[in-house]
Amino acid sequence: MTHALPGYVCPEDETRADVRTAPWCCPVCGGPWDLDFTPDPASPLAPDAGPPSLWRYGGALPLPGAFSVTMSEGRTPLVPLGERIHAKLDFLMPTLSFKDRGAVMLAELARRLGPERVVADSSGNAGTAIAAYCARAGLTCEVFVPEGTSAKKTDQMRAHGAAVRVVPGGREAAALAARAEADLPGVFYASHVFNPYFLHGTKTYVYEVWEELGGRLPDALVLPVGNGTLLLGAALAVRELARRGVRPPQLIAVQAEAVAPLASAFASGAQDAAPVPELPTLAEGIAIPAPPRARQILAAVRASGGTFLTVPEPALRAAQRDLARRGLFVEPTAAACWAAVGPLSPADPLKGRTAVVPLCGAGAKAGLPE
Ligand SMILES: [Zn+2]
Repeated sequence: MTHALPGYVCPEDETRADVRTAPWCCPVCGGPWDLDFTPDPASPLAPDAGPPSLWRYGGALPLPGAFSVTMSEGRTPLVPLGERIHAKLDFLMPTLSFKDRGAVMLAELARRLGPERVVADSSGNAGTAIAAYCARAGLTCEVFVPEGTSAKKTDQMRAHGAAVRVVPGGREAAALAARAEADLPGVFYASHVFNPYFLHGTKTYVYEVWEELGGRLPDALVLPVGNGTLLLGAALAVRELARRGVRPPQLIAVQAEAVAPLASAFASGAQDAAPVPELPTLAEGIAIPAPPRARQILAAVRASGGTFLTVPEPALRAAQRDLARRGLFVEPTAAACWAAVGPLSPADPLKGRTAVVPLCGAGAKAGLPE
């Protein structure tokens, strides 16, 4: 039996499209898609009865029926870091970052759609995650990366069987090259930014927090934000769990001070973010000068009563080392939230509230910068 796949809907102009025939972005405004999908709050959530992966939340996921792509992703531990903060160890994933939550959904979706080619673009963890999950799904993929992408990451993509296309210029040039291919017939664009199935994978981060805290959420979810793939997934889950009676937390979004278009827009009350220069930062995973989902990210943080925090470079470095001295070695991007709300933060932005921070990428990916 075949199951219908939820369709795409544009959050700006409500244009709708069938997943099997849709272009990769809204044909009216060129923006990213949302999914026309809300899980039934009356359907039971019984993760204990499910498979040992994020598919245990199948009732809340937009890919109904039998799944075949998995590497037992998800179910990452929640460990205390001090009295009021828990860290969720999302670096303990098959490719060592939270991006596996979304990549498994895109690979399963691609397997069902059966395209001739799969293309993606990334300079970092999303590219390695998509290459790995495409390998798992038996799909070949091409990943467009900007020149200068670390050999560690491109070697891993190639090892998974992906064709790595190095594009001269920055990450925007790599994205444009991938999108030119994505416009061709028979191509599936496995975009962690434009494809909303990715966000319905990252939302399992919050479902797991809910489960691990005994059926509740903390006062605040602190989330690193570049393209907002974890924050927007979290916002989806918070909304879905609220329909089941779970009290919504505030969303506290963290950016590197060096590249903070969303924090600037939030502070000025703007609905959208103006592009900023791409200054160097240790937090390269969230260094996105013009995030396509800026409007949605700003709206989600405001609706939650949350805020934005920015972190200077020395604080990133100090937080990475502080976590390592507590036994947790993560990449600098993944230390941003600890820098923002942990004991090294001069401002104590949590003010006694409980919070969960994701440690979302392994230190082995980036080493320890000077
Ligand atoms: Zn649109």
